Amino acid sequence: MVADKAKVPTVERVLLGTMPSHIWVGAHEEAKKQVVSIIKQQACAKGECNRCTVCKSIEQQQYYAALWLYPEARYTLDQFDPVFKKLSFGLDEGEQFFIVIQKADSLSQSCANSLLKVLEEPPPGYYFLLTAARLDDLLPTIRSRCMIHTISHGVSSVAHQDLFDFLTTIKGYNPAAFSQQLYQSNIIERETMELADALLSFWMKQYKKGITRDAPDRTAQAEKVIAILKGASKKLPMPGSSKLFLRDLYLQIKGL
Ligand SMILES: [Zn+2]
Repeated sequence: MVADKAKVPTVERVLLGTMPSHIWVGAHEEAKKQVVSIIKQQACAKGECNRCTVCKSIEQQQYYAALWLYPEARYTLDQFDPVFKKLSFGLDEGEQFFIVIQKADSLSQSCANSLLKVLEEPPPGYYFLLTAARLDDLLPTIRSRCMIHTISHGVSSVAHQDLFDFLTTIKGYNPAAFSQQLYQSNIIERETMELADALLSFWMKQYKKGITRDAPDRTAQAEKVIAILKGASKKLPMPGSSKLFLRDLYLQIKGL
């Protein structure tokens, strides 16, 4: 099957998965690099060409659809006035806007409180991209509303990397080994959602690579997995059913 190039932008919009708020945990420059990269992947017509004016403007924090915040020492409430002003405007369908809160571990309790509602459920098209040096320094109320990406050695990863590896191309078909890993993992619903989001992001990249390298097999496979993941994201696990959900996902993906 030959991929239809015109379809790419629509599919790319799900790169950030089902959650609107994300946090990258790691050294400041590394975390910032990840945020710049994710905005490029969402906004650049070629995915992340690093050459076009959009990519350049994102690098320079001049991109019109991104608002970058940085704390003086600690964040003050009035620093968020532009955020709430911006959020009061609805976006057009398909339009995106990114609010970057750097060093989110410098949010005071009152700043954090003012953000809880919008982090949980911003108006359509808005994304919150946060960075922090250490997970432990983040307020639990912030942490629980964001998908957490941990950066180590410049690579962003999620919890339960072992299960992630099984569900990507890294490991071959072995349902028994997967079940065993699953049984040992004690994975909870929230982590299952994060894992599903991380998988979606991984397969989106595979899809894009397939297109740019003109590898139709790869593109077609990625397209099928993306369809499975999108279907699964509509019926995310009920409490206590994470393992069943993931086992089903494994069989669907590996059964392709
Ligand atoms: Zn570009």
